[in-house]
Amino acid sequence: MIPYGRQDITQDDIDAVVDVLKSDYLTQGPMVPRFEQSVAQHVGASHALAVNSATSALHIACLALGLGAGDRLWTTPVTFVASANCGLYCGAEVDFVDIDPRTYNLCPQALERKLEQAEREGKLPKVVVPVHLCGQPCDMQAIHALAQRYGFKVIEDASHAIGGKYQGEFIGNCHYSDITVFSFHPVKIITTAEGGMALTNDAELANKMALLRSHGITRDPAQMTHEADGPWYYQQIDLGFNYRMTELQAALGVTQMERLDQYVARRHQLARRYDDLLAGLPVTTPWQHPDSYSGLHLYVIRLQLDQIGKTHRQAFEALRALGIGVNLHYIPVHTQPYYQRMSFQTGDFPEAERYYAEAISLPMFQTMSEEQQDQVIAALREVVQA
Ligand SMILES: *Cc1c(COP(=O)(O)O)cnc(C)c1O
Repeated sequence: MIPYGRQDITQDDIDAVVDVLKSDYLTQGPMVPRFEQSVAQHVGASHALAVNSATSALHIACLALGLGAGDRLWTTPVTFVASANCGLYCGAEVDFVDIDPRTYNLCPQALERKLEQAEREGKLPKVVVPVHLCGQPCDMQAIHALAQRYGFKVIEDASHAIGGKYQGEFIGNCHYSDITVFSFHPVKIITTAEGGMALTNDAELANKMALLRSHGITRDPAQMTHEADGPWYYQQIDLGFNYRMTELQAALGVTQMERLDQYVARRHQLARRYDDLLAGLPVTTPWQHPDSYSGLHLYVIRLQLDQIGKTHRQAFEALRALGIGVNLHYIPVHTQPYYQRMSFQTGDFPEAERYYAEAISLPMFQTMSEEQQDQVIAALREVVQA
């Protein structure tokens, strides 16, 4: 089975991890700050906090922005559940904004309409989480302008988008957001096995997130309520968690980062080849915004079902039977049973649901060969033309 995504681990990666295993520190050593610096420098953000997953990064990002009970977080329904769950962790209410049918990202016009109504009802969100689906950046300038007008904070869920660019600048520079989050799960663009990172240009938010990822404990005398009792002393000044990344993970992250640009370039080669070779088939290939450079975590096609003598599910199953590890990103979050218990209903976000009824993620990973890609295309041809 050709998987839809997979990691690339080189001898450099293995050596880096083995070196850490033989070193003094398996956690809380020098590698985590080195990895943080390497990502912050690459994307152009002032502060980076490595944590044990993007889910944890989203959680502490929400808390640092003061999200709590009685507040609202809005995101897109077409995302992994973590983009929404972070609001619930904080006791906030979660709601969704339907997608743009061309980019599949949260639609800025739909956001504006929903904000106008929310303002009339006194129900404005405190935090909005745009997700750069497949790596393609959202219309951040428009979202930022709305954030200024309506006073909400913005967390970019860039789990799919490290190495991508918006308006010529790397995603993660937080130019149009308060905090940006990356994921380093093995299916994503670079990996630390499990792992995530929160980036920001705001020193206060960075400090808050640093506390929250490690129990709310500080060793900085300047932050303590009174003078240290002695050299052993630390203080817990907030309620935090253990969301720390290990040194092994960070070492892997550092060597993976060295190949990031190469990885994204390879993904673009594969995407252009898919675009060319799928032309003429009854499928919609992903639209790419001319002003942006996608991280291309995923390559999602939509089936033109009126021209294919099969249902979406039949086509999906036929591809799997032919050894193509297709997948579906994502089941709209508002249709999940947990969210339906909160009164969301099927039909609430029609563009998201239409997308779900047609979308298929084709294999896309940096080590994919052209032979493998040809196999995917041949299988697709057979399935959609039969
Ligand atoms: C993968 C993913 C996450 C969660 O990442 P983890 O590192 O696995 O916690 C969150 N949001 C999106 C959009 C993702 O794709």
